[in-house]
Amino acid sequence: MTQIIHRSCPTCEASCGLTMEVDRERGEVLSVKGDPDDVRSQGYVCAKSQAFHHIYRDPERLRRPVKRVGGDWEEVSWDEALDAVAARLAAVRDEYGKDAIAMYYGNPNGHNFHTQIYTQLFIGMLDTERFFSAGSVDQQPKNLSSELLYGNAWLFPVPDLSRTDFFVCMGGNPMVSQGSLLGAPDVGREFAALRERGGHMVVIDPRRTETAAVADQHLFIRPGTDALLLMAWVHELFARQAVNIGALADRVEGLAALEELARPFTPEAVAPRTGVPAAALRALVDGFAGAQRPVLYGRIGLCTQAFGTLASWLVDVVNLLQGRLDEEGGAMFARPATGQNESRGEPQPLQHGRWKSRARGFPEYMSMLPASCMAEEMECTGADAVRALITVAGNPVLSVPNGKRIDAAMDNVEFKVALDIYINETTRHADYILPSTTQLEHSNYDFLFAAFAQRNFARYSPQVFAPEPGAKHQHEIFVELLARMNGMSASDLDAMMLDGLVDSVLPALEGVGKEQVLAASAHHEGGERLLDILLRVGPYGDRFAAGGEGLNLDKVKAQPHGVDLGPLQPGVLPQMLNTQDGCIRLLHPLLEADIARLAAALDEPAPVLVLIGRRHIRDMNSWLHNLKNYARGADRCTLYMHPDDAAGRGIADGDVAEISSAVGRLAVPVEYHDGMMPGVVSLPHGFGHRYPGTRQSTASGQLPGVSANDLVDDDALDLPSGTSVVNGVAVEVHAQP
Ligand code: SF4
Repeated sequence: MTQIIHRSCPTCEASCGLTMEVDRERGEVLSVKGDPDDVRSQGYVCAKSQAFHHIYRDPERLRRPVKRVGGDWEEVSWDEALDAVAARLAAVRDEYGKDAIAMYYGNPNGHNFHTQIYTQLFIGMLDTERFFSAGSVDQQPKNLSSELLYGNAWLFPVPDLSRTDFFVCMGGNPMVSQGSLLGAPDVGREFAALRERGGHMVVIDPRRTETAAVADQHLFIRPGTDALLLMAWVHELFARQAVNIGALADRVEGLAALEELARPFTPEAVAPRTGVPAAALRALVDGFAGAQRPVLYGRIGLCTQAFGTLASWLVDVVNLLQGRLDEEGGAMFARPATGQNESRGEPQPLQHGRWKSRARGFPEYMSMLPASCMAEEMECTGADAVRALITVAGNPVLSVPNGKRIDAAMDNVEFKVALDIYINETTRHADYILPSTTQLEHSNYDFLFAAFAQRNFARYSPQVFAPEPGAKHQHEIFVELLARMNGMSASDLDAMMLDGLVDSVLPALEGVGKEQVLAASAHHEGGERLLDILLRVGPYGDRFAAGGEGLNLDKVKAQPHGVDLGPLQPGVLPQMLNTQDGCIRLLHPLLEADIARLAAALDEPAPVLVLIGRRHIRDMNSWLHNLKNYARGADRCTLYMHPDDAAGRGIADGDVAEISSAVGRLAVPVEYHDGMMPGVVSLPHGFGHRYPGTRQSTASGQLPGVSANDLVDDDALDLPSGTSVVNGVAVEVHAQP
C-alpha cells in the first residue's frame, strides 16, 4: 500500500519541502516531488532532490559494520565492532593521552539534527586537541567574523533577497548552490522577482557564473583580492563621509581606528591587484548608496582565500557602515525556533588560540585545528604521534588540501575507525567502518539551516522507513562508543544529555521548574525530547505553559508542510548580541594584524595564472558521485580556461593538459570558457576517485576525475581562522607533449 509522506530535502541548506510516495512494506520510494504546499519552497525542487533516496538504495552503501581482514572486509556484529573500537580507542587514550586520538568531521553531519545535537557530547568527551573538520575548508572565516562582531560564532547575517532592491554577490553562486548561509529555496525565483520590482543585481567573481548570467552586471575580480576591494569600499565611505550606521550607531565602536586603517586602500591603490577599475568600484559604491534597500553578500569564495577572515568581516562592515545590517532588505538575522541564535548566558571569551597544533604551532579556533594541518599532525612521531584516527562522514583525502599527503600519512596511524556508509578514498584505510542509518531511516528537523534561512520557519521530517533490525543511527554510535570507553551505559549518557540541556535552558524559563520540563517532554524520546525542549524554550515556544499558544514539537509535527514563522524581522540584533558589553567592536587585534598583512599584499606581484573551484548543480562535494543518476552526462571535472589563455599555451578545446602547482601535478581535460577571467582557471573539487580499494564503482568507473585538492598547498592558510586557501592557488598549465 502506498503512502504520501511530507518531509524536507536534507541535501542542501535550502531544505525544500518534498512530497514522497512510498511503499513502506516494501521499503520503496515510488516518487519524490516538490511539495506545492510547503510554506517556504512551494513546490520547488532541484535536480538533487532525488539524491537521498538513491543513497538509501545504493547497493554499495554499507548496512552493517565491517572489519578489515588482510586486504579485505568482513561483516561483523555491532557488539563486536563497538567493543573492539571502543577498547582500542580507550587503550590509546589511557596509554598516550587523549590527544593521541585525532578526529575529522565531514559536512554531511550538518544535515542531521540528531547527529548535531549529540556531536558536542562526542567531541566533549573525547576532548582531543586534534579535532579537524570540513568547516576549516569552507566556513570558519564567517564564524570568526561573527564571533568578533556579535559574540556568537553562528550568528550569520543573511541577505534579505525578497525585499532588497540592490543585491551584490561576491564569491557565491546561488543559482547552483541554492544559497549558502542564505537558505533560499528557488533562488532563481527570488532573483527574477528582484528584477521585476526594478531592483539591480551585481555579481563580482573571477568567473561569469550561472548567477552572473542572470545579474544586471558582472565584474571580474582577481581571486583572493576581495578583501582589498572591500577595504577600498570602506575607504570610499569614509572619504565621502557617507558612513551612516543608523539604528545601531550607539552600539558600534572602533570607527575612527577603522577609518585610519582603511586609508591606504584607495580604489586606485587596489585596482592593479583586484583587476576592478577604480571607476567601476566607485560606480558600485554609488549604486549601492543610491538604492533604497541594498545589501552585500559574500560567501565561499571569500572564505577560502588568503584573507578569508578579512573578506568575510568586511562584508558585514560594509553593510553596517551604510545602515544595512539588521534592516529590511539588508543583511538580517534569522531567529530559528530552536533558539540557538538567542543570546543566553554570560558572554564567553573568544574561542581562539587556547592550544596549538604540534607540528607547526597553529592556534585552534572553535576547538578545531585547521584540516590543512591534519597530514602533518599524523606525521608526528614519538610523544606527539597520532595513534588513532576517527573520521565521521568525511572524506579528507579528497576534501582537504594536499589530500595525497593525508592519504599517505594515514598509514602512520596505528588504528583507524570510520563512521561512514561507504568504503571511499579515506575510509579504505580504516580498521573498522561503522555505518549509520541514512536520512529516510530517521526523523529530522531543519536545525542548523533555519539559522541562515530567508524566512523563519520550523520543519519536522518524519522517519520514512524503519531501519533493518540492529541498525544504528549516527548519534547512537557516538553514545555507544562513549559508553564503552568510559564504563558507562548508553542510557546514563542519554540522561546526562537531557539533564545538561534542561539545566542550560532553565535560567530562561521564569517560574518553570526542572520537574515540569521533564514531565512535559516525557512523551518524546531521545533526540526528539531534546528537540521538544529547545522548541518550547525558543523564541516562539510555549514556555511549557499547558495549553499555551507557542510552539512545541507536537504542534510542529502536526504541520506536515512546515510552520511559517514569518519574514526576518529588523531590529533583532541588539537582543541577540552576546558581546561583553553589548557593543559591536569593529576591530580586534587579530583583524588589525591581518590588515597589516593585507597592506603588504598590495605590493606583492600577482601570479600569472591562478586556480579557483566551482560547483555543478548535480554535485555536493564528493557525496553524490556514486549515484548513477548523478554520474551521467559529459565529464564535468574539466579545467575551465579562457580561450586566449589556452590557445596561447597551444592547448585546444578538449585537449588533456598538465596543470601543476607547488605541491602537485595533474592531467585534466581543458574546456574553453570565455566566462573565465583571463589568468584564472577553474577545476571543481570532490573528484579524484582513482584510489585502489574503494567500493564506489560508479564514482570510480564513471566519474573519477582528478582531485583539485592535490594542487592546493596545505601550508597556505587564512591566518586568523586557519581556513585553507583553495582559491587563488598559483598554477601553471602546459600542453601535453
Ligand atoms: S535545492 Fe537543495 S534542498 Fe532543494 S531540492 Fe535541491 S538539494 Fe534539495
